[in-house]
Amino acid sequence: MSIDTTARVWTATSQGNALATADGFDVINPATGEVFGRAPSVLPGQLDEVFAGAAAAFDTWKRDDDARREAMRRAADVIEAEADHLAPILTTEQGKPLSDARGEFLIAAHWLRYFADLEIPREVIRDDAEAYEEVIRKPLGAVSAITPWNFPITLAMWKIAPALRAGNTLVVKPSPYTPMATLALGEVLRGILPDGVLNVVTGLEPLGSAMVSHAVPRKVSFTGSTAVGRKVASAAAPDLKRVTLELGGNDPAVILPDVDVEQIASSLFWSAFANNGQICLAVKRVYAHESIQPQLVAALGELAKSVRVGDGFEEDVELGPINNRPQFERVKGLVDDARARGARVVAGGEALNGPGYFYRPTVLDGVTDDFRVVAEEQFGPVLPVLSFRDEEDVIRRANASEYGLTASVWSQDLDHAAALAGQIDAGQVAINQHGRAVLPHLPFGGHKSSGLGVENGPWGYYSFTELQVIAAPPRSSV
Ligand code: NAD
Repeated sequence: MSIDTTARVWTATSQGNALATADGFDVINPATGEVFGRAPSVLPGQLDEVFAGAAAAFDTWKRDDDARREAMRRAADVIEAEADHLAPILTTEQGKPLSDARGEFLIAAHWLRYFADLEIPREVIRDDAEAYEEVIRKPLGAVSAITPWNFPITLAMWKIAPALRAGNTLVVKPSPYTPMATLALGEVLRGILPDGVLNVVTGLEPLGSAMVSHAVPRKVSFTGSTAVGRKVASAAAPDLKRVTLELGGNDPAVILPDVDVEQIASSLFWSAFANNGQICLAVKRVYAHESIQPQLVAALGELAKSVRVGDGFEEDVELGPINNRPQFERVKGLVDDARARGARVVAGGEALNGPGYFYRPTVLDGVTDDFRVVAEEQFGPVLPVLSFRDEEDVIRRANASEYGLTASVWSQDLDHAAALAGQIDAGQVAINQHGRAVLPHLPFGGHKSSGLGVENGPWGYYSFTELQVIAAPPRSSV
């Protein structure tokens, strides 16, 4: 099957078919600032029908693990085959360069295969002359999955793949800023996965909150901001739905004096600016030792000036626009605030001329921890580079945040870097790299206000299951 990427109407998927909707909402291409299509407005009242289909599909889907693994592999094949057709939809609504958009679909296929292949060992705790005890992991049922606009496909698949493998069915709701690619994903998987197993709905609020409060789903898997994550946790509480929350971050990179600045600058730069800094685990504040901070600021500034910013469809573009107007205004506001307080703008610090939400990659010097751009999550192409003198102080400052998603320590002394890494309160702390450990087999999740629970690996799989103990007399007794 091949889908028509010029079509502007993508439909919601429920029970393996298009879900009829009376109305739609505009979706903007951030490279032009213009509306390029309308996505279906699924009304909260329609969720009864969608979740009923997901619950009905669960009864069969949960029974046959081998059938699930096969269906997931078929889904991975289809996504790979369609990646070239799907990528332009994602670039149009999200802004990221076409190759990055294509990469999201390939990653999605990779995640499906990882979870299809994952061996889940039986957990027989005791099987002797006195007792038989086994711990079983049972799927939960229908699951609500809610995703943000920065990586609509990758982050949806972090939920879809483990949930499906464990035997759950899903209703997925992408961000209203980026609904189309997820709708298209739902369309290409119709007929590949059994009807009702994977449903995709789009709409403006209160659709997301209705997905949390609805009586049928037994779990909400949410990726987004900490503010909305708190609302999700509280709305899921009355009927004790299980929740996994992947939330915001303000990730520090600590650069020790023994680094080779020229050698690390590019890796550090892209750890902060990939996807325009719109990554929960991007480096968001750099703490460089005072002996090398000026040299590092200069190197990062040169890199920022050399980046090709433009429409994601243009050849060789490295960074597209910021995804949406409110986020563009927020980034601009944070830089303006820093400048007004005396920050030195080493590179960038302004929007590009012309339409679209383009903002030049920005490196800031002369800021302190109390600047908004340091204390808050900027989630955009701006990086403050601070300095420190002693290590105890920098660890305290790195930890002085409500967030604790990821962090990194950079040094030629790996043992020393590891010792410091262990003192940082975050779900992942990398050494001489940042964010590279986001892999299907490793747990990813935040400490403190960066989240609750983890995704990926067996741990992510387990989060879509409930434990059951089977206790029986010894087998030898029967
Ligand atoms: P957001 O919280 O505004 O929206 C996320 C999703 O929640 C969207 O689909 C939105 O429509 C929906 N939503 C809005 N109100 C809701 C409600 N009351 N109940 C249920 N759902 C609701 O986040 P965003 O602006 O789309 O994404 C940016 C944020 O996401 C950043 O803070 C970033 O750090 C975070 N993020 C975290 C991770 C992670 O894995 N930890 C990954 C990517 C992004």
